[in-house]
Amino acid sequence: MMGTGTPTVSTEGLSAANAILKKVGREPYVYKCGLKDYVRLVSKPFQSEQLFDIYPAEDQVIMREALRCRLCERPSCAGREEADIRGIMRRTAVGNFAGARKRPLPADAEVLLQFEKRCIMALEGGQPVAIRKVASFLAGNTI
Ligand code: SF4
Repeated sequence: MMGTGTPTVSTEGLSAANAILKKVGREPYVYKCGLKDYVRLVSKPFQSEQLFDIYPAEDQVIMREALRCRLCERPSCAGREEADIRGIMRRTAVGNFAGARKRPLPADAEVLLQFEKRCIMALEGGQPVAIRKVASFLAGNTI
């Protein structure tokens, strides 16, 4: 179980998780003294530059790039391909690289280039999300 955001949101997440556990007949999650604390409290004022500061520099570059993705309702980037670019960017932006790697991506660099050319940000005349760079990172290549 992972919660992000305010403690209230995390608590709500735990309640939702426990409701599901109860529904499927499993024991609810109960905090026990000594359990590893995964909640990271940050000092105020929290600046956007601090967002990824617990990650290695190389990961931060990729996460910031993925965060540029607008998570379009109807992504123009993938065209007729089945690739879930939006889902990959969403997972990558929060450091869920393992989850992002489970979403299949074409290995063909030309196909990935076409994704970038069709990115809404490129179609608007701006800099597209660097899909090839993120894909390369997820494939285990150095950036
Ligand atoms: S079109 Fe661009 S901004 Fe939209 S989901 Fe695809 S990569 Fe992200």
